[in-house]
Amino acid sequence: MRRVNAIPLVDLTAQYATIKDEIDRAVQEVLGRCNFILGSQVQEFEQSFARFAGVEHAIAVSNGLDALRLSLMAVDVGPGDEVIVPANTYIATALAVSSVGARPVFVDCDASTYNIDVGLIEAAINGHVHAIIPVHLTGQSADMDPMLEIAERHGLYVVEDAAQAHGTLYKGRPCGSMGVMGCFSFYPGKNLGACGDAGMVTTNDSDMAERLRRLRNYGQSFKYEHVGKGLNARMDTLQAAILRTKLRHLKRWNEARAAHAEKYRELLSGVGDVVFQQRAPYSSHIYHLFIIETDQRDALRKYLEMAGIQTGIHYPKPIHLQEAYADTGYRIGDFPCAERLAGRILSLPMFPELSIEQIHYVVDEVRTFFNNAHPHGV
Ligand SMILES: *Cc1c(COP(=O)(O)O)cnc(C)c1O
Repeated sequence: MRRVNAIPLVDLTAQYATIKDEIDRAVQEVLGRCNFILGSQVQEFEQSFARFAGVEHAIAVSNGLDALRLSLMAVDVGPGDEVIVPANTYIATALAVSSVGARPVFVDCDASTYNIDVGLIEAAINGHVHAIIPVHLTGQSADMDPMLEIAERHGLYVVEDAAQAHGTLYKGRPCGSMGVMGCFSFYPGKNLGACGDAGMVTTNDSDMAERLRRLRNYGQSFKYEHVGKGLNARMDTLQAAILRTKLRHLKRWNEARAAHAEKYRELLSGVGDVVFQQRAPYSSHIYHLFIIETDQRDALRKYLEMAGIQTGIHYPKPIHLQEAYADTGYRIGDFPCAERLAGRILSLPMFPELSIEQIHYVVDEVRTFFNNAHPHGV
């Protein structure tokens, strides 16, 4: 039964309600023209997104995982190669590496920002490492300058996973514009979300852009001329038309999220043992996620669920401990920061349409939980 007060982690219906007419018109236009594959709206969205991300080229693809995968293919990462990825990220970052036959080498995160600990990267570099994939997790940029310097010194490609950072600025530079490629996801729950799966690769390198356009479309240079072994990984025209419409609102939506985060921080500071993710001085924050830490995470989560408040854990089990990566031989204790976070973090409801009443309700319930909590939880 849906409670009157139920607050979802992300409310996609609330967003659709505010832009229904625009979205419906964009969809109708595609249906009317039936230009479903690489229609003109794809190119139009690529151009607007390139401008938004401050890059020369944007290549629209099928999803975020494929954006990463195609980027690794474009820089010739393959079997026998290794790629550095953060231990604390969504599994797609590592799967992209595995999908081209390469091996992910994990690096632990920084306890305060949750992003890759740049100080640990150099120790992970060996003769097989060809690339680094920094992830701008939760909407805050990884510390790029020292990382780019290390990559330069070792001759490594940097492919940014910007799936949670559409519009985040690192010292004024947009995420997705600093590495050789930037990879975005438009999974429905992302800050810019499609009505299904979609993704984007951004780059300032025209040669890479050319390769990526071929790779996403069967390795084709012209119809039936296949100059390489590509994939079918194009973005649907329908999704491009929808995303192009939604992109016009993204700046405002990101600002709304940041304002909600400030409110949460203000109202939750000093409540129980709540710890916040630290704001990095070099990055803006678009709050794809609003995460708190507490020793009583599981009990708090259960309590909020009873109060009709949906929460999330991003992510409950680090990749190196997933069965899928048992073959890499990592063990508990290898990445203590990622492992500790997995047991402590809780994502609170966060979406642009969140109302101040909803924020107050969440905060009041968190407060009540800690006021009544037993030392070992409920
Ligand atoms: C969502 C996400 C992806 C994958 O994107 P999909 O579009 O779901 O394939 C990759 N990396 C990170 C960090 C993500 O959050």
